[in-house]
Amino acid sequence: MLAVLVFGTLTSFVPNKQNFKGHEFPKLEYDFNALEPYIDAQTMELHYTKHHQGYYNNFLKAVDGTKLEETPLENIFSSISKESETIRNNGGGYYNHNLFWENMTPSKQQIPGNLQKAIEKDFGSVDAFKEEFSTAAKSRFGSGWAWLAVDEKGKLFVTSTPNQDNPLMDLADERGTPLLGLDVWEHAYYLKYQNRRAEYVDNFWNIVNWDVVNKRLQQANTRK
Ligand code: MN
Repeated sequence: MLAVLVFGTLTSFVPNKQNFKGHEFPKLEYDFNALEPYIDAQTMELHYTKHHQGYYNNFLKAVDGTKLEETPLENIFSSISKESETIRNNGGGYYNHNLFWENMTPSKQQIPGNLQKAIEKDFGSVDAFKEEFSTAAKSRFGSGWAWLAVDEKGKLFVTSTPNQDNPLMDLADERGTPLLGLDVWEHAYYLKYQNRRAEYVDNFWNIVNWDVVNKRLQQANTRK
């Protein structure tokens, strides 16, 4: 009985293994200047080609020749407390930025009906959700991320994590599947906004890819 319960808990975080082709560096689906004026081209270029690429390279080096080479990141994160700081920081940095590029778009979007309903159910309104997420992003001390995530019961929640941690990690305060992430490291905004993190966070709402957030929610709910 215990084994069944433990297994039941773990499977909700296990992605579709058939789709795993090894750890790949994602292509950016838009130009470096596509998110201007909200995120400037120079920041995008440095962020993608130096920071993200650096996390990816260091992660590959750290897992080289180990079974983690063949393990999807989501599975690595579910027992990340057993791995090194190098794998935690660089694996997190690799995954978090994959998600970050995907959850932004230059084409302004409406929130899909399904997603809007889910947000209203768990936060009261879209504005209340945005307020909670923005506050999490603005008040994260030092470097880290703000997240919209969904827990095992399908409930949406806002959380934030330090450094390159994320809600998939077994050591996160609140665990779930990330749907939307915002990078609040200074490297994400300092060239354009300097110390004005709040302005960067408020502008983020102009470039959110709600279709991707919605798709991620559906995938997370299907995996249950
Ligand atoms: Mn970053």
